[in-house]
Amino acid sequence: MFKFTVVLSLTVCALSAQTNASHASGPASFDLTAIDKSVDPCVDFYHYACGTWMKNNPIPPDQAMWGRFNELADRNRDILHEILEQSEKGGASRDATTQKIGDYYGACMDEKAIDARGLAPLEPELTRIRNLKDKAQLAEEIAHLHSIGVGAVFGFYSGQDFKNSSDVIAQFDQGGLGLPDRDYYLKDDPKSVELRQKYVTHLERTLALAGAKPDQAKADAASIMKFETGLAKGSLDLVSRRDPEKIYHKMTKAELAALTPAFHWNEYFGTTKAPSFDTINVSYPEFAKTINTLIENTPLADWKTYFTWHLLLSASMYLPTSFVNENFDFYAKTLNGTEAIRPRWKRCVDYTDSDLGEALGKKYVEKTFGAEGKERTLKMVAALEKALGEDIQHLDWMTPETKQQALIKLKAITNKIGYPDRWRDYSSLIIKPEDALGNSTRANEFEFHRQLNKIGKPVDRQEWSMTPPTVNAYYDPQMNNINFPAGILQPPFFYKKADDAVNFGGIGMVIGHELTHGFDDEGSQFDAHGDLKNWWTPKDSEEFHQREACIADEYGGFSVAPGVFVNGKLTLGENTADNGGLRIAYMALLDTLAAEHKSIDEKIDGYTEAQRYFLGFAQVWCQNQTEQVSRQLALTDPHSPGKWRVNGSVQNFDEFGKAFGCKKGQPMMPENACRVW
Ligand SMILES: [Zn+2]
Repeated sequence: MFKFTVVLSLTVCALSAQTNASHASGPASFDLTAIDKSVDPCVDFYHYACGTWMKNNPIPPDQAMWGRFNELADRNRDILHEILEQSEKGGASRDATTQKIGDYYGACMDEKAIDARGLAPLEPELTRIRNLKDKAQLAEEIAHLHSIGVGAVFGFYSGQDFKNSSDVIAQFDQGGLGLPDRDYYLKDDPKSVELRQKYVTHLERTLALAGAKPDQAKADAASIMKFETGLAKGSLDLVSRRDPEKIYHKMTKAELAALTPAFHWNEYFGTTKAPSFDTINVSYPEFAKTINTLIENTPLADWKTYFTWHLLLSASMYLPTSFVNENFDFYAKTLNGTEAIRPRWKRCVDYTDSDLGEALGKKYVEKTFGAEGKERTLKMVAALEKALGEDIQHLDWMTPETKQQALIKLKAITNKIGYPDRWRDYSSLIIKPEDALGNSTRANEFEFHRQLNKIGKPVDRQEWSMTPPTVNAYYDPQMNNINFPAGILQPPFFYKKADDAVNFGGIGMVIGHELTHGFDDEGSQFDAHGDLKNWWTPKDSEEFHQREACIADEYGGFSVAPGVFVNGKLTLGENTADNGGLRIAYMALLDTLAAEHKSIDEKIDGYTEAQRYFLGFAQVWCQNQTEQVSRQLALTDPHSPGKWRVNGSVQNFDEFGKAFGCKKGQPMMPENACRVW
């Protein structure tokens, strides 16, 4: 998918290790035992709120980071595990959905059978690549690889037209790298150079496992590195990619072909079975030209080596243990600093969620999500929307014309809570009990065609891009909607028995965060319908950018690892959303307390409502992470680390200093605070 979905956190994908039993029963409040009272909340609120939790929750050996998100994801995974084990056992009497998820999981768990088959299940694909005779066949092979889920060379998807959000059009995008981002290939600091050497060694070992002789593996690894570096040089950087205008170049197929005359687009599109179309968005035309140069300058043998590597990479989790371990050794250990591989069942639960997410998610929802959760969440959303509306009306820097447009946009936001109204139909996807790799390949094909078939059709506004058990949330500027999967509507985000202050600090702030994404550096460029269209007067635009620059500079000074700082521009949207979310959730809490005739100074457990609000907020973000992860995320993650999500947000919000009795000039109550919303 080619979308601007702005997620709450990218850091939760596929991470887990242990269940925190003390939370499993559903506590009534934030965690009093997590607080470190030896720290002054006015100096470092994050360490005050999370210090003892951090000491008591070291990173488990099979993780690279560990936070409150992960605790919750673990609890959700335990529920999915139970569902899958029961589904696997069912036998012939199972309904179609139970058969699919049960057999997918069972085949994935059968490590012995996977080891015994070796590379045989992949042999037809390896032979296809070996048999390529001519560069004229490249287009057809790349199309085939894309259709089975191999991320070779570039991306081809469907996506909403930025400037006409009701239409779904074809999208061409950069891609084809084995390292997380183009900067990994281009930076010259010693850490980056060392990481590239280790990547080449990983390529060499993987090719050797697939049967290459040592000398050949060495030469092939070097050629892959050269090829991918070529792709990286032709790619746009992540900060620029945040600007929708920089990745919007709608053209005809003939215009795309003119950028890449050496590539046979007709064969490519024909093999993908994409519906016919006239125009395509070429995110970054330079990248299309790069592909042409690579076709002209790279021998066919090197293309074959590159294809083989990406085939092995994409299949690695369903290959024998030696491949799984080699993949872990580089991608998890070297790149992230994870010590040990996660138990197989946890990985297989995650793969089932990834490939059959709405089949498994339907059962998860039946088991966990009550009407009460949805009702209370919708009530909070309404309170937050009202607060944001009032906040916008009272902004001193915005003109009445732009305020009116902002309020129209706010009113048009739709709220999706819990799970989709219409579940995905997987009936055409065949899942077999003893075919782990085949199941994954067919699931990839199913998804590839499902995506492409949207081209030329009106956009489906009911669709979800996260599965129900996911511990995350997102705002989609092209849909102008917020999406809260059932998986996140639980502690530490939402406590059924807790007072409003704690829940407004947790899930309330997250709702506010997502709502303000509609008005961050990216979101503010899309209008109420989701079209990329300027609704700002020039004066308001200037005032807005000035205030954003304050936040970008401020966060750019926050340290994440020795010599590494938060990238203020990459994280600007998320930081703006955190700051806005914290402010408007607080306003919504004040409104709610006033309606109930309660005071913000009322104490429970020794903390005022205001203090409980900020503690409820901060403790969502308690985390420990390896230095490797801190370095990697600083390059690729548009979110700041937990410490700065908390301290950066509270130091820009005077109400925090008042709640904790801080003095002007202390770190959490600086003289010059930044504020957009
Ligand atoms: Zn966000």
